Amino acid sequence: MSEIEYFPKRAMSIHAHPDDQEFTVAGTLARWVQAGCELVSVIVTSGEAGSNEPSKDAGYKPDLARLREAEQSSANATIGIQETVFLHYPDGELEPTLELRRDLTRLIRRYKPEAVVTGDPQGVFYGNGYINHPDHRAAAQAALYAVFPSSETRLIFTGLLTEGFEPHKIKRLYVHGSEKSDTWVDISTTIEMKISALKKHVSQLGDWDPEKMIREWAAEEGKEHGLEYAEAFKVMKLSEEEDRG
Ligand SMILES: [Zn+2]
Repeated sequence: MSEIEYFPKRAMSIHAHPDDQEFTVAGTLARWVQAGCELVSVIVTSGEAGSNEPSKDAGYKPDLARLREAEQSSANATIGIQETVFLHYPDGELEPTLELRRDLTRLIRRYKPEAVVTGDPQGVFYGNGYINHPDHRAAAQAALYAVFPSSETRLIFTGLLTEGFEPHKIKRLYVHGSEKSDTWVDISTTIEMKISALKKHVSQLGDWDPEKMIREWAAEEGKEHGLEYAEAFKVMKLSEEEDRG
């Protein structure tokens, strides 16, 4: 906790659905952007299964995908994220395949982020009321193993070498939703942006205002760490020049 706050120069956020990033880590990403970080937001599916409207059937999915991509782009603009990549994997049916790991490895080698932010592939039960969506775990697992070993190991996915993508080593992996959080990022100055960004996901929120819940979550994370509002992470320090603690 005594360490000087870390701000990467480049970072990549990897999540399964439009809105995952806003519910979880948008306060931290906004802080990093304000400090000059170039951020790439990677959304693995376009959230086209995100409707229980009885009048809608499969034919609605392409429309909902476009709508949710627009909502995500708008949320990212609110935070100040310059670049959004949609991978168009199927929502609700995501698996941590080698194909997905290769696609994420390609993006990491292309954009060369210093830090990657994603969920915890081990998170299954949260409290007594929420079973983690399997897409979240699948995206997080593929992201984890794209960070290590695939991105930095030359002879994994050699087709990427042929495409011109050389190995790249990530310095830090920020994992949210971990039971073993060890780092609390102060989001007191960016929680308003987080809430504004989340509210761009109108198709998912309907009439519900998420502000109270987001403030309660962030206050709970911060209270034992002297912070009004915080987001919690387990941070893996993967580079030789980083302290290993
Ligand atoms: Zn989700």
